[in-house]
Amino acid sequence: MISYDNALGTEKNTFSLLSFLKEKSFKPKGIYVHVPFCQIKCPYCDFLSGIPPEDELTKKYFLALKKEFLMYSEFLDFSQCSTLYFGGGTPGLFPSYLSEFTEFLRKFADFEEISVEVNPSSHLLPSDFSFATRVSFGVQTFSEKHLRFLGRNHSFYDSISCLENFSPHFSVNADLIFGIPEQSPSEHLEDLKIALNSGVKHISTYLLTPYENTPLGVMVRKGLVKLPEDVEPFFDVQSYLEEAGMIRYEISNFAFEGNFCKHNLLYWDRDDFLGIGVSSWSKLGNIRFANTKNMKLYLSGIERGIFPVDEIHHISKKEELYEIIFLGLRKVNQGVDIFNLRIDTEKFLKLLFERGLMQFLNLYDGKIKIKKKFLSIADFVIREIFDVLDCITFQSSEIPERKSSSHL
Ligand code: SF4
Repeated sequence: MISYDNALGTEKNTFSLLSFLKEKSFKPKGIYVHVPFCQIKCPYCDFLSGIPPEDELTKKYFLALKKEFLMYSEFLDFSQCSTLYFGGGTPGLFPSYLSEFTEFLRKFADFEEISVEVNPSSHLLPSDFSFATRVSFGVQTFSEKHLRFLGRNHSFYDSISCLENFSPHFSVNADLIFGIPEQSPSEHLEDLKIALNSGVKHISTYLLTPYENTPLGVMVRKGLVKLPEDVEPFFDVQSYLEEAGMIRYEISNFAFEGNFCKHNLLYWDRDDFLGIGVSSWSKLGNIRFANTKNMKLYLSGIERGIFPVDEIHHISKKEELYEIIFLGLRKVNQGVDIFNLRIDTEKFLKLLFERGLMQFLNLYDGKIKIKKKFLSIADFVIREIFDVLDCITFQSSEIPERKSSSHL
């Protein structure tokens, strides 16, 4: 029998999560497992990561993950759960733990896709990951100079040999970063070409972002590091992947047909998922909730049978609408069906025209999409559309005010 108290979060939080879970049998479609350990902490990374992978702590952590999952299994129905994603951190450091954990989860769910994030420095073999269907490598760049700037502990050759060895066995993704200081768009193009030639089926591209709480963020604020001001040419060269037959199914994600990441699609489609592990987020129905970011609190909470949740956010109708638009516009080929938004569509369109926003958008068959040449300013366009939405009359009687964070 599990006992619940309120050592984490407020009594109200713990109580409201429990009563919410008991309310109806939620059926998450995916499970995310956060593994926060890494061999190093990269200076630009703002995930909860970089915790040294010491044997004792790792063992304790994987036991806690099992226990946390069992606590949720009392309330959730996993019969429709088809994706499992090991993210981090560097979960790829622990193939035998992941394999064992996957076997344990298979008693509850039948997974169609199992993804694991791996660092090219891990020197691991494809056979170590036979439990997975999809392997995502944090390549970031093939340039030794830029790898050094990013503080990565792998080389060009580590990446190439991982991608070539794993690609025949898995749906392989390469994560690439662009907008690194002194990186030119043609260097980014070179990275895309090398990744593609190594046999990967999926490429994710991320703009280097100087998050406030990271060493990179501090250096940029102090003026010690200068990031490229114009990122449009980087977006321009990415069209190479589409010319090579990949589909840009999300603003940052390219894949050959049949290799879209089903787990990530589940986030972008606003489906329900359960996140377990320190700092992980979940979405069930109209709430999103987050586990504590504190490893000690996480482990002690689980030890005592407490959900280690320290933030619960109820998604209002208005926030739901913002999420639908934000995520829909990021799925660049799909766009947003504006006649399904329960808003005054006529006024919405009128305001988009009046504010000059239609220059950035295509409107076809009732859907708005961001024009390809403006993808580099997608965040700006989406923010402007949110401003327009603030002026719209909603066709719902009860719509709370927009909060500052939607926790996407
Ligand atoms: S290896 Fe990945 S998760 Fe770990 S610190 Fe570096 S960027 Fe972050």
